[in-house]
Amino acid sequence: MTLRYLWIALLCCARPPNRGTLEHMNYAKVVPDIPTRAIDGCFDYVVPFELARECVLGATVLVSFGHRDVIGYVVGIADEPAEGVSRSRVLPVRAVLASSAFDEAGVELAQWMAREYAAPLASCLRLMLPPGQTMRVKREDTGAWTLVCERAQAVDDRWVSLAPAAQGFTPRKNASRQRRVLEALQAGPQRMAELSAMVPGAASVVAALAKREVLAVEHRRRIRGAEDATSLSSAQAPRPASLTRGQQEALAAIADAAEAAAGDVVLVDGVTGSGKTEVYLNAIERVLAQGRGAIVLVPEISLTAQTVGRFRSRFGEDVAILHSRLSTGERFDQWDLVRTGAARVVVGARSALFAPLANVGLIIVDEEHEGSYKQDQAPRYHAREVAAKLARLRGSALVLGSATPSLESLERARAGSWSGVRWTRVEMPERPGSAVLPAVRVVDMRREFAAKNGSIFSRSLRQGLLEVAERREKAVLLLNRRGFASFLMCRECGCVPSCTHCSTALTYHERTHSLMCHSCGRSWSVLTYPNPATKCPNCGSRYLAQFGLGTQRVEDELRMLLGEGVDVIRMDADTTSTKGAHTRLLEAFDASECAVLVGTQMIAKGLDFPEVTLVGVINADTTLKLPDFRAAERTYHLLEQVAGRAGRGERPGEVIVQTYWATHPAIEAVASHDRASFERYELEQREEAYYPPFSRLGRVVLAGGSERVVRERAERVARELRSRVGDDERWEVLGPAECVKGRVKDRFRRHVLVKAPLEAELGPVLAECAAGLPQDRVVSVSLDVDAYDLM
Ligand code: ADP
Ligand code: ZN
Ligand code: ZN
Repeated sequence: MTLRYLWIALLCCARPPNRGTLEHMNYAKVVPDIPTRAIDGCFDYVVPFELARECVLGATVLVSFGHRDVIGYVVGIADEPAEGVSRSRVLPVRAVLASSAFDEAGVELAQWMAREYAAPLASCLRLMLPPGQTMRVKREDTGAWTLVCERAQAVDDRWVSLAPAAQGFTPRKNASRQRRVLEALQAGPQRMAELSAMVPGAASVVAALAKREVLAVEHRRRIRGAEDATSLSSAQAPRPASLTRGQQEALAAIADAAEAAAGDVVLVDGVTGSGKTEVYLNAIERVLAQGRGAIVLVPEISLTAQTVGRFRSRFGEDVAILHSRLSTGERFDQWDLVRTGAARVVVGARSALFAPLANVGLIIVDEEHEGSYKQDQAPRYHAREVAAKLARLRGSALVLGSATPSLESLERARAGSWSGVRWTRVEMPERPGSAVLPAVRVVDMRREFAAKNGSIFSRSLRQGLLEVAERREKAVLLLNRRGFASFLMCRECGCVPSCTHCSTALTYHERTHSLMCHSCGRSWSVLTYPNPATKCPNCGSRYLAQFGLGTQRVEDELRMLLGEGVDVIRMDADTTSTKGAHTRLLEAFDASECAVLVGTQMIAKGLDFPEVTLVGVINADTTLKLPDFRAAERTYHLLEQVAGRAGRGERPGEVIVQTYWATHPAIEAVASHDRASFERYELEQREEAYYPPFSRLGRVVLAGGSERVVRERAERVARELRSRVGDDERWEVLGPAECVKGRVKDRFRRHVLVKAPLEAELGPVLAECAAGLPQDRVVSVSLDVDAYDLM
């Protein structure tokens, strides 16, 4: 519908203004959804009488803004326009497009995020809209403006059942379809779709018989996204006979925090397999008993059927699931379950924080150290920090759980308070029952090479795998691939082919003989050594050969080593790209009598299979080489997590870690189960270099097609920042410099980094600097407060 048309429709139904009631007009505070930093804030609009009931806080509306129409969000309703705004100049709200999606605390949260993360307020409010709601005003080729409203809809199923009149009804002799329909319904009500599949042409029969009141047709809402049943035994959460001491202490601390109702934080620092999930389940039970709800955040990657199953098996229909792998319709239905109050436990990825849960008693962030809690697009928020703010706003307790807490959280717990609330750490150092932490062995791969073992498996790992096969147990093998995919290198000149449009090394895909750029998606076919036609793009040498490893290669080698009797299951981005594939692979691993699961990072987390007695890490140190101050911490977290997959049952586990850097403190700490020594080492490094958790780190990335303009703007940002910071020694401005990914999709990228004291308001500082730049499309500017991605 064009806006012109819409406007006329509104005029026709508007009652003539009545002088007597004009005094009682309401004013809506509306945040226009305009994607620019230049216009940010809220504006007053008068609410016409006929819209007064719908135009409430949280509603999506259509308003005029600077001679055009825009979508906006209502963040407040007042009797008066803001001070200094003349009533006669206030324009009306033109239409209400969607009902309320957030409340006052939601507005406050969005305002906090906008300031904290230097993001437009509208982009923060948008996070709270129902899944599938996209509305915009778009300009047609003809110049006319059109309103586009897309919304996910509830779907109904039609159910057919026998009505009382069916008793005395006998179908005519030749009406065989009628007879078959009536027969099918003897067993009970049927969905129309199934009935039609059973009896072709059932629809017309049902319509005719419904008219004569022989059959009743009823619409029932179908809830999508609740069908992820799995046969995985570990997806059950049987109630343990008793809780461990650690679990009891954790629950007591959580109960205190919930009692205080002020956003107090409990850091549950429990080794892998210590039963953190059981703590969450118990804590949730308690808040539900008090009539309140709970939000549980899980990293996207470990939001598997297993995790979901554990919550569903304890809380049944009280659980709503929200994550990005669900379809829009599924997410909408799950979101709606929360809005209507039908579900009071929300389990999901980052976005679950913004679900419309009315009375939040508890927020849980599992694996709180995970980098994926940082959103990599604007608004670039960190879910842990937003959860902490939300807990303060709603008066809930916040639980952070991890076997390897982030240095940030450990520092806050050590201090005992942060942002005015209490931080308590509870340790759970033991696994329940007879399970013990596995023994860890580090293998120095340089020695293997010196001993003429050129295989990807060291002698110990090979031996370990053969023994697992012999004992008919299970093993998990991790291929640490982050930033280290398989690539080609010329043995003569040392060149690594990289993308001509992005400065990234190209990944080699063996099965298709192609080189692919993972920044822009381009690919080239290629010949490699020993093919005689191989040619290095730099020097023409024929010794262009594969370096690094793919999971496929490991899979092939495993099959050769172990033979027929052992199932090899590969889990990586390729084998899990289709819906449900992840679950099916885990089910296959679960069902197998003797198997090896080989995969990337995604196998490191959350898997709870008691039969796993061996965990192998093929290359522990690849992530240590990334140019990022968190490289060691991330490597340590990954290794500790994957090691934790071993020995979760009665049989003891063993971990074998292969590395070229056996003396690195991160590797040594994993080997000796001595986290404290790693923390000491790492904190010392961070303090010396003034990195988080001792400072805040901000990053401004500028990207554009013209290298010259990008350079100019980056200089300008750096100058601006330096002049703001002045000679305050607690602030440090680094750069500008070229990003590690210096070129992506033909755009040049440079960045400026800022280190600021912990109490600094970094967001507003970055926002003000960016506001001073020309607002054009030549160079894009992204602001990242508390940056995690430094590439
Ligand atoms: P984490 O999340 O800390 O890695 P899990 O919650 O997955 O650990 O628990 C590991 C295993 O221990 C699970 O199989 C769980 O059912 C079991 N478990 C948890 N708590 C207890 C308990 N108190 N007694 C016995 N078994 C328990
Ligand atoms: Zn070469
Ligand atoms: Zn590229």
